[in-house]
Amino acid sequence: MSTPPPDERRGLPSASGLDRIMRCPGSVALVAQVVGDRGSQWTERGTKIHAVLEGKINLDDLNPSDKVTASRIMDVEAQMVDNCAMEGAEVISERRLWAFGDAWSGKLDRLHRHGNVGLLIDFKTGWGQPVPVAESWQMKGLAVLVHETFEIDTLVAAVIHPNSPDGRSSVRTEWGADEIEVFGLQIADTLAHLQDAPRTAGKHQCQWCPARQVCPEYQAQAHASEGDGGTLAPRPSWERMTPAERGQRLHQIVALRKQLEAEEGAMRLMLETDPASVDGWYLKPGQTRQIYDHPAAYEIIKAAADEAFALSVMRVGMGELEKGLSTRGMTKRQAKEWIDKALGELIVSKPSEPKLLEKPTETT
Ligand code: SF4
Repeated sequence: MSTPPPDERRGLPSASGLDRIMRCPGSVALVAQVVGDRGSQWTERGTKIHAVLEGKINLDDLNPSDKVTASRIMDVEAQMVDNCAMEGAEVISERRLWAFGDAWSGKLDRLHRHGNVGLLIDFKTGWGQPVPVAESWQMKGLAVLVHETFEIDTLVAAVIHPNSPDGRSSVRTEWGADEIEVFGLQIADTLAHLQDAPRTAGKHQCQWCPARQVCPEYQAQAHASEGDGGTLAPRPSWERMTPAERGQRLHQIVALRKQLEAEEGAMRLMLETDPASVDGWYLKPGQTRQIYDHPAAYEIIKAAADEAFALSVMRVGMGELEKGLSTRGMTKRQAKEWIDKALGELIVSKPSEPKLLEKPTETT
């Protein structure tokens, strides 16, 4: 059996755990009781991609899917460096920093540093939904460490996450020295009062908590969740619900559908990376067949059937036409206007399934 690597965190809190600890200080004691190696192929995968981003191994050492993730991170980082005018800045990668007093630490993925201005970037290689960067205690903790270690007073904190379920490959926020110092005080205060601290369940802290399976607060919340990203609670008959209750339920249904779609997307990406990652499921390669020469196809179908039939099955997709025009330099609006003008007489409108839309909130 191989010996586990030494714990570079020295058993002390680390910035990567602050999103849990700051929201649920009581988790520290419970997590300490949970034994078990949660290291996995996902951790190894993230470590390998980080090694490429650090320049320690080559991009070609990754499997094709991880190569795409690493390449997308590199592209977004290059754009970010450009947007933040950080070309030529000092670049610091994968360094663990310790807070004054060595009570806790954090490992930064990348810092671009120009004097007292910094661009701090965290690379997320997985498929989960990270805490929004402006609310992320991991990023706030790293900001404190970077401020203390490198005397950085203006910091752009960014997360690059190419596999984000919400499709946003990067998000960032900016903090000044005063804000960062307040974060430092809040972290120090929480860490100083961990003994007998309460446990508070919530989406951000419980998502990655190793103690979930044994945590009473988490179990209680999971059972009580009512469609806010969990499951739909049983409902009374439709007749007994008020319009307000039905509206609320529809909100829950829409939120749940979005979550389910995001989770299915994450599973698909996992299966792409590793076909053994989801028991009982596999990705069957998809294929779409399309006619590429419509005039020739029209003539053949007409000869085989008749003109009316040929016309009825030959269609121009409006969405595809709009998209095609926008790749030829038109904006979406210009494409719509061009279609109305040039093809208006050939277009018939037929009623289709009504869209379900939320009414705008009335303002007084
Ligand atoms: S599962 Fe949630 S509530 Fe329970 S200890 Fe972990 S973070 Fe706290």
